[in-house]
Amino acid sequence: MRLLLVEDDPQLGDGLMAGLRQAGYAVDWVKDGVAADHSLASETFDLLVLDLGLPRLAGMDVLKRLRSRGQILPVLILTARDATGDKIAGLDCGADDYLVKPVAIDELAARIRALTRRATGRTQPLLHLGDLSIDPAARAVTQAGEPVQLSLREFSLLQTLVENAGRVMTRAQLESSLYGWHDEPDSNALEVHIHHLRKKLGNERIKTLRGVGYLVPKG
Ligand code: CA
Repeated sequence: MRLLLVEDDPQLGDGLMAGLRQAGYAVDWVKDGVAADHSLASETFDLLVLDLGLPRLAGMDVLKRLRSRGQILPVLILTARDATGDKIAGLDCGADDYLVKPVAIDELAARIRALTRRATGRTQPLLHLGDLSIDPAARAVTQAGEPVQLSLREFSLLQTLVENAGRVMTRAQLESSLYGWHDEPDSNALEVHIHHLRKKLGNERIKTLRGVGYLVPKG
């Protein structure tokens, strides 16, 4: 799950970046509205955390441009502006949630989970596939009722594959969901994570389509 964080306050941005990475997200951070607009127009993100008061281009304009391009990713506004009028304008411009700073990172993470759950068409907090059960909030996995210990990256990878069960995920798609701009994956990192997942969950759980990518079969 890859997020774009748009925040011009360096200290706050640092804290959010650290908290969100700890929560298991790949996070890219830009500090002004123009950089946000460029990133959103050229790369794929699963969710946007957007400040409103930004240099070069206002957060509301970033949001309007994003929606006018037809991009449907969930947008969470995170701002110091607490006036009712700002909240209404933000939501009516296409934001999906609106939080006023300061915010506890746990609440932010829970809101992000709720938004991405909706975006993937789920109403249940748990993800199920056969005898596999994934709890994104607790970052816990069970197989046939037995807990499976996964690293943060393995967990994120499994969640992405299961959310897209039945669909082939390319290497590039999986890598972009796992790594932000500041993370340097070594060339075989994805294969290593897949290998570990297979060891823990069984070989048949994840199929390789040579030269294309990976697939978790449905049901
Ligand atoms: Ca700001």
